[in-house]
Amino acid sequence: MVHQGFWNHQSLTISVKGNCLTISLGSREVFSYDLAGRLWTALVDEISYRRGLDGKIVAKWQTGEKTRQRRWLTPPESADLIERGHALLCKLTSDLRSQKIVLNPPLNDKGWRDLQTAAAFDNTAAEADALGYFRVYKPIGILPPDQYISVVLQATEGCSFNTCTFCDFYRDRPFRIKRVDEFREHIRAVKAFLGEGLSLRRTIFLGDANALVIPMPRLISLMEVIHEELDVEKLGGIFAFLDGFSGERKTPQDFSRLAELGLKRIYIGMESGHEPLLKFLRKPGTPQDVLQAVRNIKAGGVAVGIIVLLGAGGETYAQAHIQDTIRLINAMPLDMEDLIYFSELVENENLPYVQTAYQNSLQPLSAEKRIQQGEAIENNLVFGKKGTPHISRYDIREFVY
Ligand code: SF4
Repeated sequence: MVHQGFWNHQSLTISVKGNCLTISLGSREVFSYDLAGRLWTALVDEISYRRGLDGKIVAKWQTGEKTRQRRWLTPPESADLIERGHALLCKLTSDLRSQKIVLNPPLNDKGWRDLQTAAAFDNTAAEADALGYFRVYKPIGILPPDQYISVVLQATEGCSFNTCTFCDFYRDRPFRIKRVDEFREHIRAVKAFLGEGLSLRRTIFLGDANALVIPMPRLISLMEVIHEELDVEKLGGIFAFLDGFSGERKTPQDFSRLAELGLKRIYIGMESGHEPLLKFLRKPGTPQDVLQAVRNIKAGGVAVGIIVLLGAGGETYAQAHIQDTIRLINAMPLDMEDLIYFSELVENENLPYVQTAYQNSLQPLSAEKRIQQGEAIENNLVFGKKGTPHISRYDIREFVY
């Protein structure tokens, strides 16, 4: 329900929804909270903010028609933003109580409850919340952009390969599959941590890097536990990464069984269709393995999200990367249920990629050329009668859970 009024000579809107509470003051200040009262998003003076469950806050703003800037707030900046929201909501609650503001329609019991819960989110609560996250999760390395608002359940920890030179998401942990009882305990801990905030979450994401390498009997047991603990249908189904293609390969029948258990989409870090580039990146599997996996997944009735790495291999591999990636994607039976993400290589100096690129005298692609590489691939993709997948950018530096 939307409640409107005036406050301090500005329009005031309080939106009380089934999954969040949003307070808008004029057009320059907006704070949204989940129903456990955690700050979720904010907009202050044309800068938008998003707080992750780990307590980190990313700020984004436009500097031109197409240029978007982003940076992570420092702890004092985060504290200032949380305090700003807290002070605003405390004053708002007090002025509503003393009837200095007339809302149309007036707040009902739920509205009051949600407002008071959100108003209690000060820096002490935020710190306790972030500590709760680290008790429940091994830090979540990455998610596909359409899954930032999922409930992550870590059925596995880490990556079963951990060889790719451009990826350091899981270097801090060995790969392991959780026992059924341990996974159930984890799900219960996640539910307790999210509390009423669970209502904000739109899907379930099975972590970490490639939970779907779990052999079928074990995977089915783990997915059954999810159904026992959560309403999978209501939460929009289950999503996961599949990366690298050694070990147990799943058949169309396996994927069909997983679809029955609520699996909706599998994200594949394909990176490139050019095999020598995959080898250079130390990415396990071949383009043919990826193609076969996509065919099996689609035949089993599950959608895919294909991730292509722009800029990988620099100038040396640029042309072959474009051509073989076009060829590989065009051979896939993709349709309108599927996604294609173009993700730019992020070269931070701790990555082995940077070392090997230097040793091989690779000339990196400029930012502009990376964009052109994405366009060159996209412009040559051809899809069948079942429709075109949604194609978009994936900037891993913006990841927030
Ligand atoms: S398989 Fe995926 S998660 Fe594992 S190291 Fe490679 S890119 Fe990273």
